[in-house]
Amino acid sequence: MQIDIFHRSTILVVDDTPHNARIVYKVLTGKNCEVLIAEDGRSALAVAQSEHPDLILLDIMMPELDGFETCELLKQNEETQDIPVIFMTALSDLESKVRGFEVGAVDYVTKPFQQKELLARIQTHLTIRNLQRELLIQKTSLEKANEELKRLAIIDDLTQVANRRRLEDYLQQEWKRGIRERISLGIILCDIDFFKQYNDTYGHVVGDQCLKQVAQAINQAVKRPADLVARYGGEEFMVILPNTPLEGALKVARDIQKTLHSFKIIHEASQINQHITLSIGIANTIPENFHQPITLIKAADTALYTAKQNGRNCIVTEYL
Ligand code: GH3
Ligand code: MG
Ligand code: MG
Repeated sequence: MQIDIFHRSTILVVDDTPHNARIVYKVLTGKNCEVLIAEDGRSALAVAQSEHPDLILLDIMMPELDGFETCELLKQNEETQDIPVIFMTALSDLESKVRGFEVGAVDYVTKPFQQKELLARIQTHLTIRNLQRELLIQKTSLEKANEELKRLAIIDDLTQVANRRRLEDYLQQEWKRGIRERISLGIILCDIDFFKQYNDTYGHVVGDQCLKQVAQAINQAVKRPADLVARYGGEEFMVILPNTPLEGALKVARDIQKTLHSFKIIHEASQINQHITLSIGIANTIPENFHQPITLIKAADTALYTAKQNGRNCIVTEYL
């Protein structure tokens, strides 16, 4: 299907001779174009900026700003630089034509013009312009989709905190930084107490809601931009605390428990409390080359196990 490219296109005609402008006006309106007229370079720049025409037909010989200078200014302005410019001029010498292209025009038509030729050239450049726009729109939406995919690849769908993959990458990265800068790295491993009973009592849908709230509570308590909250597994969350000593990690863990307690999520089947509680294991070290991040995780896991043994809803620390 042939698209009528002229229809709905806006073309700015710049000519200081009203008679010339009128002729072009008639030709273009005959093709259902919307036509704007400017009588000099300055007003052409203003109209181009405010109306964003699809194409500009630009005379060269004009008082004050001539066509070349006008075109250069159009190309320097971010808002108008993409509008195709066709010179329409009585100057037919090679030098003027070449200069026209040098200052950024896409085409050059000499006056007096052949109506059909002028329309054919305009049609070509309007088509190119439309294709460029479509490409740009597609590129922008592809970039957006790509960003979203990247986000989805590192986020846990249910709780919207970082997922296991992101956690492992980040831990590796901060481990290496710790070695380079000789700074401590802390991790906090949180496990919901009696969560199986919670699911058995309220069902999985409510269980999922609870996981979201716990993630939210942990997020609220964790303040520094470099800290990362992640879902480690089913009802376990991990917080990575770069450049944080053991006392700092302990404070964050206490804040997590305090924030969660303030949420008062009822857990009737819990054997230790009427609300949802967390057992927490903390591990801390200054990373060394001969260790791997997994040793830190194992230490946090051991600490967490001890916390469970100690009656749950408590914090145990382990220094590597
Ligand atoms: P403990 O206090 O010793 O940690 O006991 P627990 O019941 O919390 O631990 P256990 O490991 O026995 O059970 C964990 C439960 O977490 C099992 C499962 O029902 C629940 N769970 C794990 N992932 C999800 C999830 O994505 N959604 C829901 N609703 N429940 C989950
Ligand atoms: Mg568990
Ligand atoms: Mg548990």
